[in-house]
Amino acid sequence: MKTWIKVAGRVQPFRSYGGRGMALTFARTEYFDEDSTTLVAFGPDASLLDPNDRAGVSSALALWRGDLEVLEVAGHNRTSGELSPATWPMQQSGQLTRYLAALQESFGCVRPAGSDYANGRDSFIDGAIESG
Ligand SMILES: Cc1cc2nc3c(=O)[nH]c(=O)nc-3n(C[C@H](O)[C@H](O)[C@H](O)COP(=O)(O)OP(=O)(O)OC[C@H]3O[C@@H](n4cnc5c(N)ncnc54)[C@H](O)[C@@H]3O)c2cc1C
Repeated sequence: MKTWIKVAGRVQPFRSYGGRGMALTFARTEYFDEDSTTLVAFGPDASLLDPNDRAGVSSALALWRGDLEVLEVAGHNRTSGELSPATWPMQQSGQLTRYLAALQESFGCVRPAGSDYANGRDSFIDGAIESG
């Protein structure tokens, strides 16, 4: 899951990482206004936290930054979409190095192209462009 978190005040840039079992495992400052700062945050399991639940997101953020006052949150459960019920791929350790060369092999005139097969920036639009 991904959520945007508006907090009170102009916050010094920061970046936080979390581990297994945490509802949010990444958060960072993204946009700065005069009297508020917007963070972007990600969690590994959409069933753990509603990205639009201000209290829930606030508690998850407080594990890193209990000093921040959460004003608003807005997110979307990407795994519940009707047409695209998924997120970007998250490779397991060793998965990419083990299988990438095979995934990039052509079969006759069929050539795999897409973000998931890119050499660099896979899982991003840059990877799709590079691979294409
Ligand atoms: C929720 C989300 C947020 C993201 N945010 C960012 C971001 O902020 N920045 C960033 O750089 N990247 C982001 N990405 C990643 C980026 O969107 C993808 O890496 C990129 O769109 C992949 O492009 P692609 O052309 O490789 O694959 P896709 O865009 O997935 O295109 C593959 C196409 O193939 C079609 N297809 C599949 N199987 C078949 C079949 N058998 N026959 C015919 N067609 C088929 C699919 O319908 C699809 O249209 C995000 C991805 C997601 C899901």
